[in-house]
Amino acid sequence: METGEGDVLLVIDVQNDFCPGGALAVPRGDEVIDPIHRAAQRFEHIVLTQDWHPPSHASFASAHPGKKPFETIQMPHGMQTLWPDHCVQGSRGAEFHPSLGLARAELILRKGFQREIDSYSAFFENDGTTPTGLGGYLRERGLARVFLAGLAYDYCVGYSALDARRLGLEAFVLRDACRAIDLNGSVAAIEAEFARAGVGVIASAESIE
Ligand SMILES: [Zn+2]
Repeated sequence: METGEGDVLLVIDVQNDFCPGGALAVPRGDEVIDPIHRAAQRFEHIVLTQDWHPPSHASFASAHPGKKPFETIQMPHGMQTLWPDHCVQGSRGAEFHPSLGLARAELILRKGFQREIDSYSAFFENDGTTPTGLGGYLRERGLARVFLAGLAYDYCVGYSALDARRLGLEAFVLRDACRAIDLNGSVAAIEAEFARAGVGVIASAESIE
């Protein structure tokens, strides 16, 4: 598969808190960095996302008395998994992993900054309707084919890929450039959604041939 002018590499949430030692570490999360760097060489356009929560964000278990991380609760927009406090605005945990060297990324899209609602997807908050603006950004710039990598495969990468399809974009997940949380069957669930939505799952080398 050749990459070209209308392609963008969308690198999801490669932040300290999602890497080993972080507050919500994805197992071997830092292993995505090398394949991302290799893939990035073949892309003219790179966009990064950054999970970016205010203190006491509604997705934090600590914001709900009596609740523990990884429990789920009913929120106005649907079920929400509760997480440990992570990626708090301005904290070290919210910074990109220090080994991530993508200085030429053209946009850093922050998400999850509204206290009352989470945003797994880079395109829509978890109500499924509030846009982040990324869809408009890609459209205005003529970027119609999205290749996704980063953390976590079964949450923010996955939901972003599905929403890219909803917006009529082509979407390919670079599987070896992602790592998963795999909570309660979440990998199988997202892959079923990928198949239904037409999200491609490929090896990162396939995108750079
Ligand atoms: Zn978050």
